[in-house]
This record gives sequence, C-alpha cells and structure tokens, in this order.
Amino acid sequence: MEILKTPSDVQAKCQKWRSLGETICLVPTMGYYHAGHEDLMAYGRTLCDHLVVSLFVNPTQFGPTEDLANYPRDHARDSAIAEKHGCDLLFMPEPKDMYCDDHATWVEVPTMSKVLCGVSRPIHFRGVCTVVLKLFHISCATDAVFGQKDWQQQAILQRMVRDLNVPIHLHTRPTVREADGLALSSRNVYLSPEERAQAPKIYEGLLFAKDVVQSGERSVPRLRERVLKKWAQEIPLGRLDYLAVVDPVSLESLETIEDRALMACAVRLGKARLIDNILLSC
Ligand code: AMP
Repeated sequence: MEILKTPSDVQAKCQKWRSLGETICLVPTMGYYHAGHEDLMAYGRTLCDHLVVSLFVNPTQFGPTEDLANYPRDHARDSAIAEKHGCDLLFMPEPKDMYCDDHATWVEVPTMSKVLCGVSRPIHFRGVCTVVLKLFHISCATDAVFGQKDWQQQAILQRMVRDLNVPIHLHTRPTVREADGLALSSRNVYLSPEERAQAPKIYEGLLFAKDVVQSGERSVPRLRERVLKKWAQEIPLGRLDYLAVVDPVSLESLETIEDRALMACAVRLGKARLIDNILLSC
C-alpha cells in the first residue's frame, strides 16, 4: 500500500490507472477506524481494480464549537487496517494541501443541508460536499462507498452527483453495530460508562418505532411521541437534538407514513452527539 500526502501525487497516480482503463473505488473517511469503516473498505475492494482510502479530518465540516481539535486520531493503526483490507493507496493530506489560503469555492445542496443534522450543524454539509467533490476529482474514482449511518450525508451526495453530472457510482452500506445495537462511531470513545450503558436505547427506540408502524400506526406525531416517551425513561442522561421522519430521498418532513420513510435522530450523551436512523416501511 502506498501512502501519499498531496492531491497532485494522488491525482497523477489515479489518472494513470484510469488511462489504462482500470476502475477506482474511493472510501472517504476521517479515520479512527472501526468495523463500519472496515466494511466499507472490504466492500470497496470487491467493486473495482483499485481501492483508494482517504483519511482526512476535514476542518470545513466542523463548526467553531465542535470537536475538530479533539477528534480521535490513530494514523499508525488506521494505516495497518487499510492495508489489511487491500487498500492500494491511502491518501492522508494536511489541511493546507486541501485548502489554499484563499479557497473560495463551496458546493452545497441548501434544501437538504438545512434539515435534520443541518439545524444544529449549519455549515457541516457544505464542508462535506466540498471536500467529497474534491476527493472525487483527486482520486478520479469510478465508484465510492458511504455508510447508511450518515443517511443524510449519502442522500445529499447522491443529489450533488446527480445535479452536477459527476461521473461516479455511489454505494451505500448498512450500519455496522455493536452487539447491543449501538451504531459504531469514532465518537463513541467520548462516552462515559454510564452514558455507554444508555446509548443502545437509541436504536431500541428506532426498532420500537418500526414495530409500531408495522402494527398500523401512520401518524408521525403519535409515533414520535411514543419513541420520545420511551427515551425519556430509558435515556435519562440523553438530550434530544432531533427525532424526525422524512422522505428517504428528498429528506422532506412527513406527517403521515404512506410508503417508505426514514426515521432519523441525534441524541447528545455527555460530550458525544450520536446519530442513528432506520427505514420504516408499511
Ligand atoms: P467517518 O470516518 O465517521 O467520516 O465515516 C466514514 C464513512 O464511514 C462514512 O461513509 C460513514 O457513513 C461510514 N460509517 C461510519 N460509521 C459507520 C457504521 N457504524 N457502519 C457503516 N458505515 C459507517
């Protein structure tokens, strides 16, 4: 596995592969790997001739009060994991290599970026779209893999790719979870033992919502109320950021569940802000 730090080195290498007619799968990450990242890499490895993994804690997607400086990092361990999964090229740029001092171009899907996580993280998805489009260009990828855990992110990126005719296929992988249901996240390290004990109740609430819909409930306000009541009892340390039911593609808010719907949430537990989601179908 080759480790490269500059966009120009990566682009030169990837352009060469493409000129030979070879395909490239990109897995964008911020590092501190867990089994969710490993699943994306293993899947990406099966898709294309080359697997490129980017490891970049992208400053432009963090708000001024967020955890950019403290985001967990372990480059040595991460490199070993990427290599184990057959990564050909690990791209680890420095912020100065990705953003010129006078960087001024932003990519945004405003309608979809302002809902759900966008309410408390107003610049987040603008940073995500911008860095991911840059990574698509740098890696010349034919395919890229994202996780369902960040549903809003993959929905916004699908829209960006469609709207801007980006020549790439996006793939979404199911959320990898701990045995007790907690969605794996690099940020789970922020949880105290007491918070960690309550965290699996988030997904239990989403599974409960799925059952309630399957037994006939169609009203979103009533469904939300039942989940919130359960969480109030079972996650006393939690502070709700949002719990919403939206169209899975457009992310528009729904009042009634008629076909496919996405229930998505963010809950703060101590220093961690945990997100999760589930597809509800009737
Ligand atoms: P991150 O390093 O947190 O930016 O995540 C990099 C990629 O891994 C994104 O596409 C995430 O959606 C995906 N990912 C994060 N957690 C999980 C998980 N528990 N299961 C599957 N994919 C995940």
